[in-house]
Amino acid sequence: MLTDYHVHLRPDDPDTGADRYLVAANAERYRLAASERGIEELGISEHVYRFAQALDVWQHPLWRDAARDDLDAYVAFLRDETDLKVGIEADFVPGREDRMAKLLDARDWDYVVGSIHFLGDFALDHDGYDIWGAGQSPEAVWRRYFETLGEAARTGMFDILAHPDIVKYWGATRPHPPGDLRRFYELAMDGIAETRIAIELSTAGLRKPVGALYPDPAFLEMCLQAGCPVALSSDAHVPGDLGHGYDRALELLDGLGVGELAVFAGRERRLEPIG
Ligand SMILES: [Zn+2]
Ligand SMILES: [Zn+2]
Repeated sequence: MLTDYHVHLRPDDPDTGADRYLVAANAERYRLAASERGIEELGISEHVYRFAQALDVWQHPLWRDAARDDLDAYVAFLRDETDLKVGIEADFVPGREDRMAKLLDARDWDYVVGSIHFLGDFALDHDGYDIWGAGQSPEAVWRRYFETLGEAARTGMFDILAHPDIVKYWGATRPHPPGDLRRFYELAMDGIAETRIAIELSTAGLRKPVGALYPDPAFLEMCLQAGCPVALSSDAHVPGDLGHGYDRALELLDGLGVGELAVFAGRERRLEPIG
């Protein structure tokens, strides 16, 4: 069984309001595209910061610009008008765990995708708030990123750890630390091993400047040794990107001896053979 859980019903651009995109006809386009690609388990995980309620958690300028829609209307739409799994992509904002937990616990999810897009006020994957313009060394940025990733896993607030090495997003167009990167991955491993959170294998990186799967195979191997299962997703923002690059992802999993994927319902996890 193939999954695509980290999926958005719309691009991240402005003018992509709920009235046009969080509607049954659009969800149906995604369901059809998934069926064509043999993806049975399809779920949606809109960015939490597109919803007004996220401003109770954090008030970053990007969130203030984006927070327009109603979170409860989104959950009700997915439950009542689609047959898709109900997810959310929730940022880990250190120091705001209680506020985010309150937002998440009040609603009925099939799974929660946990992401890090910011370190402090600086973004890893958005050139508007680029962390690489802040004068920090790659060693410092990568250290802080993987320490934060371990903290995110340790909170237990999330079911899936999204795009786990998104710090590499810009590839060769930004500074990069030298040598064996496992010294950074190690920083996240205690937190990851503690909760055995599902690790996302995301093909989104293939469509970004880095041009590689998230995470690096060496990172994934360390997570597998820690006993974590794999959650497979494309992070599509349009139907055409569903299952994008899955041949590459499945080849990697096969090479690592992974024959099962994490499947979620009502925040319960089970494993299903890839087949
Ligand atoms: Zn993300
Ligand atoms: Zn996403």
